[in-house]
Amino acid sequence: MISDNSVIVVGGGHNGLVCAAYLAKAGRKVTVLEAGEQVGGLAATREFAPGFRASCAHLLYLLDAEISRELGLQSHGLEMASDGLRTIALAEDGQNLVIGSDNLDGAGLGDEDRAAWREYRRFMSKFAAVIGGLHNQVPPRIRQERGDLVALGKLALKIRMLGRDDMREFLRIAGINIYDVLQENFENPLLKGALSLDAVLGANSGPRSNNSVFTALHRMSGTGGHGTGAVALPIGGLGSVAEALAAAARQAGAEIRTGAAVERILTDGDRVGGVRLAGGEELAAATVVSNADPKTTILDLLGARHVEAGFAQRIVNFRARGNAAKLHLALDGLPEFRGVSAEQAGDRMVIAPTMEYVERAFNHSKYGEYSAQPVAEIIIPTVRDPGLAPAGKHVLSAVVQYAPRNLKQGWPEGKTAFTEVVMGLLARYAPAIREQTLAAELLTPEDIEREFRSAGGHWHHGELSLDQFLMLRPVPKAAQYRMPVEGLFLCGAGTHPGGGVMGSAGRNAARAVLAN
Ligand SMILES: Cc1cc2nc3c(=O)[nH]c(=O)nc-3n(C[C@H](O)[C@H](O)[C@H](O)COP(=O)(O)OP(=O)(O)OC[C@H]3O[C@@H](n4cnc5c(N)ncnc54)[C@H](O)[C@@H]3O)c2cc1C
Repeated sequence: MISDNSVIVVGGGHNGLVCAAYLAKAGRKVTVLEAGEQVGGLAATREFAPGFRASCAHLLYLLDAEISRELGLQSHGLEMASDGLRTIALAEDGQNLVIGSDNLDGAGLGDEDRAAWREYRRFMSKFAAVIGGLHNQVPPRIRQERGDLVALGKLALKIRMLGRDDMREFLRIAGINIYDVLQENFENPLLKGALSLDAVLGANSGPRSNNSVFTALHRMSGTGGHGTGAVALPIGGLGSVAEALAAAARQAGAEIRTGAAVERILTDGDRVGGVRLAGGEELAAATVVSNADPKTTILDLLGARHVEAGFAQRIVNFRARGNAAKLHLALDGLPEFRGVSAEQAGDRMVIAPTMEYVERAFNHSKYGEYSAQPVAEIIIPTVRDPGLAPAGKHVLSAVVQYAPRNLKQGWPEGKTAFTEVVMGLLARYAPAIREQTLAAELLTPEDIEREFRSAGGHWHHGELSLDQFLMLRPVPKAAQYRMPVEGLFLCGAGTHPGGGVMGSAGRNAARAVLAN
């Protein structure tokens, strides 16, 4: 006889851990089963070369302040090496721009651009807050019931509360592309290039793609408390967030097992009954919450035959092909990027010289090719957190786009050549980088899929776009975390409000389980 109180969480990514912590706090008997040897999933800090550590997700800007406070993450050891990192928009000749939250610095900037930057920050922050206000809500259903209608009414009211002019502007730009919005507001090409990158990081889109304003707003929608879009660097990499969450979950009574890959979600009649691990061990539970992505959960772990054909087809159609690669370099010393001081080397650097450059970089991926001239978001975390490398050495961590999941020539053939392209790109800005490199690791979306068990290797477990957002995420009729099989829930980035190290999907899923 299965206890109604027992919950199995499949996967110890940060959302699985948040979900486990809230459920354990509410008195449920929770077991987290993580296939990897450590918790954290895409945000785990791992050794990529002897003595050098980095996390795949490398910057913290979305972590929900309420979750952080309620789970006492600080008391469980989470500490920032730095918050409020600036962005250095790199130029090949070293005439870089420094983009802070309130000010811009650099050669070639006019007063118009500085004023436009303040206004852009004002309206984008205001619009991002509308999206941020939805993070901790179970999305309403589109039906005639009172609770759902009230929730939909509240959303409409939030938009109306922007004020007449801003509401019009919000509705005008929300579905269009960042290229047009930046073109309307700014002159400086380097500034526009750098800002457009924020709209396409982790997405399968270029600056001219629809939805790119929405993804820019999502990136700015964090409620971390250091200002809209503020970027922080936790000591120990993003894995420290997961470690603190795991400590909170354990303190609340959850059991966390690593090296425990779930092979099958078991059914008992028309509801879930537990899971079977690789190796054959079976664990019974009345509720199974999956932190794995929607495709893996429904198609591989549960099996499509347990859901209606139409539902299975919607999951198949969920767009989830990653286009971001991750580079980790173990360096002999601090690399010198042209025009970047040693202190600035601890900030966030981006290679996106113009919007046209970013768009051209994206074009290749439409045809199954990697970018010949990629874009990159680069940090050297060891400037502010030296513990990630041996004394005097450094780590370079870079998101590099575009690298399509389904490379035409295949990644086994293409990876070495793409790594060479990326090293060549870096060398144009930091000429001695090759000589300083002791070891390099490039994770393609295919590697990310395999290593982190995320179908498609996508940043958000599935494209974050208006057609896969809120009550449409992951698919219509499954946006309240409950799957069509009784007792089965999702809690990962493939559900509302999407990816990024935020925790809201895990918390919302816990609420849905408790309300069931
Ligand atoms: C290249 C890249 C860079 C990124 N950079 C950033 C960034 O800088 N900042 C940011 O906020 N976000 C970033 N992201 C996005 C962020 O990492 C993810 O959106 C987020 O970590 C997802 O968390 P999650 O808990 O939902 O899922 P995951 O982290 O994917 O965790 C799911 C867990 O489930 C486990 N699992 C899956 N199947 C099974 C199974 N069968 N049995 C047991 N366990 C299983 C996996 O091993 C994994 O640990 C980046 C993503 C990528 C790909």
